[in-house]
Amino acid sequence: MTANIQAAKAALSHLEIDSNPVSVKAKSRDFFWYSPVLKAALDHVSADFVVTPQTESEVIEVLKVCHAHDVPVTVRGAGTGNYGQAMPLAGGCILHLHKMNRVKEIHPGRAIVEPGCLLKDIDEATIAQSSQELRMFSSTWATASIGGFIAGGSGGVGSVRWGGLRDLGNIIRLRVLTMEAEPRALEFTGEELHRVSHAYGTNGIITEIEIPLAPAYDWVGVIMTFPDFPDALRFGYDLASQDGILIKLATLFEAPIAQDYFQRISPYVQPGQATGTFMIAPHAMGAFQTFTARYPGAEVIYRSHQTQWERDPGRIFEYGWNHTTLRALKVDPSITYLQVGYGTDDPVGLVEQVRARLSPEVLQHVEVTRQNGKVAMGGLSLVKFTTEARLDEIVGLHEAMGAPIFNPHRYTLEEGGRQQVDDVQLTFKREADPKGLLNPGKMIGWHDPDWAYKQKYAWPGMMKAAE
Ligand SMILES: Cc1cc2nc3c(=O)[nH]c(=O)nc-3n(C[C@H](O)[C@H](O)[C@H](O)COP(=O)(O)OP(=O)(O)OC[C@H]3O[C@@H](n4cnc5c(N)ncnc54)[C@H](O)[C@@H]3O)c2cc1C
Repeated sequence: MTANIQAAKAALSHLEIDSNPVSVKAKSRDFFWYSPVLKAALDHVSADFVVTPQTESEVIEVLKVCHAHDVPVTVRGAGTGNYGQAMPLAGGCILHLHKMNRVKEIHPGRAIVEPGCLLKDIDEATIAQSSQELRMFSSTWATASIGGFIAGGSGGVGSVRWGGLRDLGNIIRLRVLTMEAEPRALEFTGEELHRVSHAYGTNGIITEIEIPLAPAYDWVGVIMTFPDFPDALRFGYDLASQDGILIKLATLFEAPIAQDYFQRISPYVQPGQATGTFMIAPHAMGAFQTFTARYPGAEVIYRSHQTQWERDPGRIFEYGWNHTTLRALKVDPSITYLQVGYGTDDPVGLVEQVRARLSPEVLQHVEVTRQNGKVAMGGLSLVKFTTEARLDEIVGLHEAMGAPIFNPHRYTLEEGGRQQVDDVQLTFKREADPKGLLNPGKMIGWHDPDWAYKQKYAWPGMMKAAE
């Protein structure tokens, strides 16, 4: 199959098309460079052109034309993904959805939106019209799209209350276009949602999303210090276990993360102290203070709407999730990260076990979340990068201790996820993208259905780097 790029561009010339190599390359990138391994592997990758549809019927036109001319299509929301998810490994067309950004309907408990809506714009509209807000959002709230969050993200601010994005109830309905000679529009609910949620746009294009909402609050941002990291871990776990205290975020940092990487917070933190950032509902602040008083040594050093620091720390959630890595990288470019599952059985104990084995080469940044009604913990641990071999060794050490890694140094769905082929997603790809044109190279199962998690996958179809 050879892509006829010129023919596709000519057939789409009435739409907004960008063929400028510099801007096309810029729109072919995401935050893959967080990983030194992906940076080396994917830096050269670029699409041939970018098309920006404004309506679903224009998306259908793009898909039809690209299907007819065998042109690969990679969807782009805002390009903030970390796993090289939005990078067109085989070149072709970037389908940029940022102009499909209407909030279409707002109802009690739910909203219907287009995929290119920024998370912050959804919140702005739903808060203004109905005093409701998104249950959860990526810490890239200000820049990321809802379509990219659903197709590429996993959870975030709000997951301590509502669990992960793929948990039942956190997406209500998706409208999805297939990549066929005559693209079909399908409506997915229930089990069908798993076909395309977190599938990196490899088996369908999401054109409409029905998402649940929760009552909106003017969340209080709190920053705390703790004598040591085990104190912070215990506090975070116990706080999230309090049924009556409504929180939206509980993030915990081993020293010296705040001291070294959070410039506006570090003047207020003593050497060796662990830190935590929290979002608490205003009406829960009294209970939160009562709870905090039970933990000797736990100290609130900042409370939004009240504390005056010389330099305001800004949005509290922009210290957590993958913003922690971003802040660390700005200070020390040799830092990278790993995404770790600590589960629900004894997450505090498991974090402590990993920390005892790997700190300070690996520093613990822990997000408190919820899984099947139980408090869980996930790590976006900061790793001092030396070599790829050592990074792989560190991954192996986590796994040996029972802490699975969702490897952000791999560009495939399987390696970045549960290390196995997802049959539901693969079966739907066979139906919806028979030519394999959607985001090629990202779903190993499509290229190698018998793949088993042993060694790193290298997609043979990846475009060659220039000599
Ligand atoms: C600083 C930082 C912090 C982050 N924090 C979090 C976090 O808290 N939680 C989290 O989950 N992630 C986080 N991420 C990752 C990423 O920002 C989020 O997943 C984000 O929501 C992705 O949205 P986007 O619009 O940038 O998607 P993109 O990067 O544009 O796309 C992501 C994937 O989805 C596909 N896609 C996009 N739109 C569609 C569509 N309409 N139909 C089908 N496929 C589509 C793309 O092809 C790509 O594979 C973070 C990243 C950074 C850099």
